Amino acid sequence: MRIKGAKYFVKPGQRFGRLVVIKEFSIIKYGYPLRRVRCKCDCGNIIETNLSSIFKHTQSCGCFRRENSANMLRTHGLWYDPVYAIFVNMKSRCYNKKDKNYNRWGGRGIGICKEWLDNPKLFVDWAYSNGYKKGLTIERIDNNGDYSPDNCTFADRLRQANNTRNNRIIKYNGDELSMADFCRKYNLNYFRFGARTGRLNWSIEKSMINCGHYVPMNDTDKARSLYERDDIMY
Ligand SMILES: [Zn+2]
Repeated sequence: MRIKGAKYFVKPGQRFGRLVVIKEFSIIKYGYPLRRVRCKCDCGNIIETNLSSIFKHTQSCGCFRRENSANMLRTHGLWYDPVYAIFVNMKSRCYNKKDKNYNRWGGRGIGICKEWLDNPKLFVDWAYSNGYKKGLTIERIDNNGDYSPDNCTFADRLRQANNTRNNRIIKYNGDELSMADFCRKYNLNYFRFGARTGRLNWSIEKSMINCGHYVPMNDTDKARSLYERDDIMY
């Protein structure tokens, strides 16, 4: 007859993690003897458990796990935050080779800035103070850049579809810049400006004015651009 835990031997006073053995005893379970131990935990609790389990996983009365999950919550308290879910997905497609989207992110060298990676709470705080709303997804302004505070914005999926892989080069005033760099240089809203120069096929100047940038132009153009200023919001 096989006795469960037969290969294990303990002495009173022997320590397993936070548990110190008081004594071994046995009970009958399902018709067979089962070796049990009574232990005192460092926190003061006295528990009884299967002898075999203190050799495997049980290292405290349960206080260790409770403290750990409390610590987790204290560290960032984000498990139920929808923005934290965005972070988890973002991290997965950048760093988890098994993620079905890895090829299009991590595989292309796209990562997450160190400060967010080290402390997801910073990402969540940034998101709430930078336009996150339910239903919006995170979008990188420069499609070849990392996820970082200066390269990210929140967009709805439709808008994203209009702007993905937007590698258009903007020529203006002797500059030749990518859409992203151009918008950064002139402090323009990337999506607003992109929609006007792209889908709406407006001129660079008119789009810039529409996005709030001052550009010298003749009176007719100016009048028209002001008239059209609020005619369409995406
Ligand atoms: Zn304990």
